[in-house]
Amino acid sequence: MSTLTQVIRPEIAGLVSYHVPDASGFLKLDAMENPYTLPETLQQELAQHLSKVAMNRYPVPSYTHLKQLIATRFGVPAGYDIVLGNGSDELISMMSVACARPGAKVLAPVPGFVMYALSAKLAGMEFVGVPLLADFTLDLPAMLAAIEEHRPAITYLAYPNNPTGNLYDTDAMLQILRTIGDSGIVVVDEAYQPFAQASLMSRLPEFGQLVVMRTVSKLGLAGIRLGYMTGSHALMQEFEKVRPPYNINVLSQAAAEFMLQHVDVLEQQAAMLREQRTWLSHQLDGLPGVHVYPSAANFLLIRVANAEQVFAKLVEQKILVKNVGKMHKLLENCLRITVSTPEENALFLAAFAASLSSP
Ligand SMILES: *Cc1c(COP(=O)(O)O)cnc(C)c1O
Repeated sequence: MSTLTQVIRPEIAGLVSYHVPDASGFLKLDAMENPYTLPETLQQELAQHLSKVAMNRYPVPSYTHLKQLIATRFGVPAGYDIVLGNGSDELISMMSVACARPGAKVLAPVPGFVMYALSAKLAGMEFVGVPLLADFTLDLPAMLAAIEEHRPAITYLAYPNNPTGNLYDTDAMLQILRTIGDSGIVVVDEAYQPFAQASLMSRLPEFGQLVVMRTVSKLGLAGIRLGYMTGSHALMQEFEKVRPPYNINVLSQAAAEFMLQHVDVLEQQAAMLREQRTWLSHQLDGLPGVHVYPSAANFLLIRVANAEQVFAKLVEQKILVKNVGKMHKLLENCLRITVSTPEENALFLAAFAASLSSP
């Protein structure tokens, strides 16, 4: 018997590592990245700013200035602490580690963001997925029944949801929050907030167990890996104990501080992408046999007659979208397409239309 089987936990040995396809040479519409770059002058100012960073020093782990900027630029209510993560992926894993008492469970609607289930598994917690309805709205009775049955330590609600793109009904979310009360934590994941323009942030004072989690990734800074969450002081204090002290490196910190002073540039880009979302959605909806789901994010979920074939034809044309058909049975024949610039959207649309009609 190999030593690996004696040392590695069986639930890890049974996993496959997260696969990211090689996209070199492709039009990349699979990862919800902001396609726009910064204006030349801003790039130069940023380079100047980064050149002065003391890379020989560890970060100062309080990150006070960065947190203040996040609070003011992104509307974190006064008095609410912020915990920073190396991407919101790290925040998810910090919460799992903090809550992984024996028998503790994590609950989320499915299909949903894959990291909720993966991170629960890595922390040794059971994941309970509650299927959405066929139109991807919350199955509220099923959610409430699952909450009663499993008493989850953490419940995730992505607002809007990935990969479906829709915003859940606010009343249903509030009812979930009330039902859970103080028996568990409810994390509202607002990764797509710049495109949704909807938030539960203002509800923080009503629910002591509510955590609002966001990221700068979809806004245009996916490469620097920065996520943040906020909630009651008591909760944030506990999660802060799990955070690796230097998790935001000095370059990411400096880049984020600089970009938050110029966040209007990113917000204008988000506004252009929202307009493009409307345009692309109408165009796709006009094609025969294509169903477009409503989206409050920077991607569109569509259903076609034969997603495998369309996906393969797009790959032949060097276009990469996400084939989510195998993720969950509700997503059969569904593709997820990141909304991009007018030029890239037009390229995609032409290639997509051709993929539909070719045998
Ligand atoms: C993309 C995404 C995230 C991950 O964001 P990072 O900050 O880049 O780790 C979190 N939640 C949802 C729902 C996402 O789609």
